[in-house]
This record gives sequence, C-alpha cells and structure tokens, in this order.
Amino acid sequence: MNDARPAISDLSDQALVAWLRERGEPAYRARQIRRHATHGAARSPVELTDLPKPLREALAASFRWSAVELVREEASADGETRKALLRLADGHHIESVLMPHHGARNAVCVSTQAGCPMACAFCATGEMGLVRDLTVGEIVDQIRHWQRELAHRGERVSHVVYMGMGEPLHNYRSTTGSARTLMDPEHFGISPRRITVSTCGVVPKMDALAAEGLPINLAVSLHAADDETRGAIMPINRKWGVEEVLAASARYVKKTKRRVTFEYVMLAGVNDSERTARDLAAAIRRHLRAADAHVNLIPYNAGPGGFRRPAVPRMERFAEILHEGGVAATLRISRGQDIAAGCGQLKVPEGKAAAV
Ligand code: SF4
Repeated sequence: MNDARPAISDLSDQALVAWLRERGEPAYRARQIRRHATHGAARSPVELTDLPKPLREALAASFRWSAVELVREEASADGETRKALLRLADGHHIESVLMPHHGARNAVCVSTQAGCPMACAFCATGEMGLVRDLTVGEIVDQIRHWQRELAHRGERVSHVVYMGMGEPLHNYRSTTGSARTLMDPEHFGISPRRITVSTCGVVPKMDALAAEGLPINLAVSLHAADDETRGAIMPINRKWGVEEVLAASARYVKKTKRRVTFEYVMLAGVNDSERTARDLAAAIRRHLRAADAHVNLIPYNAGPGGFRRPAVPRMERFAEILHEGGVAATLRISRGQDIAAGCGQLKVPEGKAAAV
C-alpha cells in the first residue's frame, strides 16, 4: 500500500519550522532534525534521543524519514562498488550506486527519473521508457541512504554524479533543487565542484543551467562526431544535433568558467574509427579551447542494442588521436560491471518498473 505521508526531505526548511511552531517547538529544532536526517545513522525519528519523545512520535507519525526504502543491495566482486535497488512510496523502483575510491572519496551516482524517455540505443534504462520524474527528496534521499551507510565508518559522501537512471535536465526542477540542497552548508555542504550533472544534450536546459548561478560540472553525452551516427543511437539528436550541443557546451563554459566533460561510449564498428576520432577532435576544437574540454571514453558495457566493445588497442588509438587533435581524453574502465552498475546498465528488474 502506498504511504501518503510526505518525506521529510521533500519539506522546505520554512515548512518544517512552521510545523514545529504549530506544536510549540522552537525553530532551532529544524536544524537539529536536518542534521540528523542528513548526516546521522538513525533509521527513524524515534531513534533521535536528543529530541523530546512527543516530538519524535509526532515526526514519525507525520513524515517518512526517507523517500526511498532499500529493497536490495549488491556489491561488486572487489567489494568496492555497491548498487542499491530502492523503492519509492508509490511502489516504483530506482537504482543508485556508491563508488568509493581508495578511501579518498565516496562518489554517489544518483537517478533523477524512474526509467528514462530518451531511448538511447545502447542504454538499459532507456529500454524502460519513462515511468516518472523523481522529487527533490527522492534524489536527495539516495545520497542520504549512502551517507547513513558510510556514517558507521565515520565517512561521508564527497562527490555526487547525476548519471543514474533518467535524463537529469528532463527533470530540471528536481535536479537543480536537489543540487542546491547538496550545496547548502546547512544540509550536505558539498562543493559544487564535486557535483556533476550529465545530459544527453537538452540544449535549452543546458542554457538554463548555465544561467542558474550553480557552478556545478556538466557532462555531455556526445557518443558520436556526426549527426548521422549520433541520430542512429540517440533519438534526441533529431532535435538538437552535434553542432548545437557543442555550441551550448561552449556557452556553458563561458558562463560558468567550468570545463565540460564529453562522455563517449565506445561501440565497435559504430563510432570507434580513426577518422571519427579526428572528426571528433576537430568538432570539439571548433567550439572549445583545449583547456575547456575533456573526453571520457567509456568502453561499452553489456547491454541492449547488440553492440560490442572495441578491442583495447583500438580504443587506445582513438584516445591518442584525440590527444593529437588537441583534446584531452581518458579511457575510463567502467566500475561495477559485474553488478550491472556501469554506465548505461541501470535498469530495475522485470516486474519492478511498474508500481507493485
Ligand atoms: S543514456 Fe542516459 S539519457 Fe540515454 S536513455 Fe540512458 S539514462 Fe536516458
């Protein structure tokens, strides 16, 4: 049965203070509750023993402590990458991934939609279609989920990437709203330099994001150097082509002074030729200075579309040509592939896409 109580993370600070005031509680309790909700390990407000008991009970009766509920967690063979299947209040499901890095950082990959409407040919999430947009609380609570897990060993989420299920800029309000919460020192206090929003190239929203005054990183999924190839694997290219996406990326750099990362999934025989590498470097350099762009080459992970991953020397040669063309590139070995937590692999199991 659906739980109609609002999640505490979907409540604005003002609304929480007003709710407390109605119960004769001082406003400073809001900050206390937020601190517990954001950084604490408690799984319910009844565990917050520094709050008066009636307040704890009223909190538990009025709000859900989290907008997401853990159904199942999987860890990669090396125990590093962890993927959580999370249930939303209306029964839909999403996935979220924790990627620790040698104890130096804890990056979380969040979903912004249940499913995705963009239908990229190589992507498991795209196969699902759009189920629905997530709320700010449902995005923020994915990070809280991992924060609670990390709190036990005295660690915190340090980086957030909006690269899970969904197109973040197609759910623009919740994406920017949640990024603001992550940056807010009263909440997570994560530096905007450690927050990355990805997009498959929703040009008007790229411009809107540039104008937000949020100096967060932008990752643009390019995946091809020409419209014909890109259009065949990314339907959105029929609306905004390669040149338009690159021009919007350049405007983003100009406005935010942040470098743009181009994501490029490597598909054998589709977008991995030496000529394509030369065209890609030239296309990027037509719009951006060398210092303002970086290409992440992502070897294709098993998924839909019948694609294959190119051989490693071919991918290395591709990176080399980009370098020769004045574009920095990294061949990124995607992590968590054994638990389908790599790029383009997030998809809730059959029967979980719809509400249950
Ligand atoms: S690659 Fe991203 S934008 Fe494309 S279908 Fe998958 S989740 Fe959606």
